[in-house]
Amino acid sequence: MTSDPRAALLNAALNLAKHGVPVLPLSARKRPMANCPTCKNGACGERPNMLAAGPCHCPQPCHAWAAATTNPTLISSPPWARTWARAGGVGYHPGGAGLTVVDLDTEAAVAWARATLPATRRVATTRGEHWIYTGTTRSANSVRPGVDIKSRMQYARWLGPGIGTMTPLPDAVLRLLDKEETNPPPRGAGLVSSTAPARWDRTVATGCRHTTRYIATGLERGLAMIRERHEQGAGSRAFGVAQFIARQHTACPGPCGLDAIAAQLINAAMAVGVPEPYAARAVHRGMNGTEHAA
Ligand SMILES: [Zn+2]
Ligand SMILES: [Zn+2]
Ligand SMILES: [Zn+2]
Repeated sequence: MTSDPRAALLNAALNLAKHGVPVLPLSARKRPMANCPTCKNGACGERPNMLAAGPCHCPQPCHAWAAATTNPTLISSPPWARTWARAGGVGYHPGGAGLTVVDLDTEAAVAWARATLPATRRVATTRGEHWIYTGTTRSANSVRPGVDIKSRMQYARWLGPGIGTMTPLPDAVLRLLDKEETNPPPRGAGLVSSTAPARWDRTVATGCRHTTRYIATGLERGLAMIRERHEQGAGSRAFGVAQFIARQHTACPGPCGLDAIAAQLINAAMAVGVPEPYAARAVHRGMNGTEHAA
C-alpha cells in the first residue's frame, strides 16, 4: 500500500480488473467523469456497448459505465492516469462482472433487506449498504424507497470487498423490477433461464471491440458449422469454432461476453449428439487457446 491516496485508487482498480471486474474512475463527487469535449452530448456517436451502439473509441474514460474495462494497459494509460490523479473513487460495472448490486441507501432500506432478501456479500456505504448478488439483470432506480438495482448499463462505487458470501440474485429482486416496469417485461428479461443457453449480451461485453452484427454473424456461422457435423466430428468442430472465435477477441480490452457464446456452441454440439462433458471440454479448450481438442 502506498501513502498517495490517488495511487491507491489506481492500485485498487487494477486489482479489481485482475479479478474480472470492469472499472472506471469516479470524480471527487463520486460520479463518473464528465465526457471529454469530443464525446460531449454523444457527438462521438457513443460507445459500441451502449444502447445507441456507436463507433466511439475515445481514450478517455468517457460515457460513464460504458468506459469500464478490465484491460490493465488501458486503466493505467496516460489519459486514464491523468483522470485517476484527480479521481475521488473507483467505480465498477456490476453487469460486466456478472453481478447485481442492490443499493440500500437508508437505514430503513437496510432493515427491509434484512427482513426480505437472502443473505449475500454486504458492503457498508456512506448511509447504507450494498448487497451484491451473482447474476445480472436490468438496472432501475427507486424500485422501492431508498433501493436502487445496479447491474447492466450501470456503475456502482467500489467501497471495499465487504463481508459475507455472494449468493445468486433472488426472485425477490427480480419481482421489484417487474413491478417497476410500466409494461410487463418479455419472458426471460430477468435472469437467463438455466434451460436455454444465454445469448451474447452487448451490455455485458463492455470491453469488446466488435459490433453486435459481427458477433452475431460469426456465431451463426459457427453454429451452422457444428450442426452440419451431425454424423461425426461435431466435438472437434466445436473446438475449432471456439478457437476461431476466441482469436477474434485477442485484441479486445475485454470482457467480451464469450461465456454466452461458449454456452451456445456447447448447446449446438449437444444437439447433434455430442455428450455434454465432451462438448463443454472441447469448447472451453478452444476458447482458452489450447492447441488440441483431445
Ligand atoms: Zn465518446
Ligand atoms: Zn471522450
Ligand atoms: Zn471482443
